[in-house]
Amino acid sequence: MILHVGVHVSIGGGVDKAVDRAYNYGSTAFQIFTRNPRGWMYKPLKPDEVTLFREKVKRFGYDGYVVSHMPYLPNLSSPDDNIYQKSLDSLINELNRAGELGISYLVIHLGSHMGKGFEKGKERLLNAVSTALDMVDNDVMILLENMAGQRNSMGSRFEEIQALLDGLSSYSDRIGVCFDTAHAFAAGYDLSTSKGVEYTFNEFEEYIGFKWLKVVHLNDSRYELASGRDVHEHIGLGYIGEKGFRLILSNKEIIKMPLILETPVDKKRGDLGNIMMIWYLAGVKPPINILKKWEEYLEKDPQDKEIYENYILKM
Ligand code: ZN
Ligand code: MN
Ligand code: MN
Repeated sequence: MILHVGVHVSIGGGVDKAVDRAYNYGSTAFQIFTRNPRGWMYKPLKPDEVTLFREKVKRFGYDGYVVSHMPYLPNLSSPDDNIYQKSLDSLINELNRAGELGISYLVIHLGSHMGKGFEKGKERLLNAVSTALDMVDNDVMILLENMAGQRNSMGSRFEEIQALLDGLSSYSDRIGVCFDTAHAFAAGYDLSTSKGVEYTFNEFEEYIGFKWLKVVHLNDSRYELASGRDVHEHIGLGYIGEKGFRLILSNKEIIKMPLILETPVDKKRGDLGNIMMIWYLAGVKPPINILKKWEEYLEKDPQDKEIYENYILKM
């Protein structure tokens, strides 16, 4: 068995460079922003970079395991007409860009109703997603990501995601769900205990359904259960913990998905360390070509060498 696991990688130096970065980590999936996520501005993709990106995705075997994430500023549920229109424009653009790049999935945040209530936010969001899908004819799937329970946020409860999916039923082949473990935990789904994980996945199946699940964001949480705070932590070092991730990764639906880490990079650990922890906690022995990649990487950057020696080599 092979896992499809990787981190969110930078597109610095050209979008195709993201594929090299993913490959250097020995990752088997990856996620990008197609532009700076902290602004509204963007430039068109350069045709030569698009060609290189597609060529590298093929060559390194990433086809079907590449994820694009919407920038942070758009709020597709906004009651403000100006913000809403700009957000819809961004969604249409990102859908086009993902299509150009041959990317399978575009993950979107569900935004904030800004105090107007879920139903008002839902109207906006459904209108945005259906308009974008009507205007852009390509193979990219829009994935609704569960949110962390921040004030006024949309889609932190699975019931809300169910209501959104219901409203998009005529687009069922172009819609899916991205499940983020840190967001679920922050929203009150206890992924740190075996009872809690069982409850969470039962609820997920009951209200959403695993057939809609296309991508998983694996992040630990820096704050406690139901904190409503969206702050990610290294795998096993937050409140979900190693035990929680063992339980999450023992789910047979989860383990098949592209598993994307949006974990920090700091003195405690780098990206490769978190990738290795997922293989370890899933109990899946990495194939020899991936081990070789990791050894090459650790030669140049030994930060996570201890994880390799203490966990991976002892599997
Ligand atoms: Zn996200
Ligand atoms: Mn996420
Ligand atoms: Mn987050």
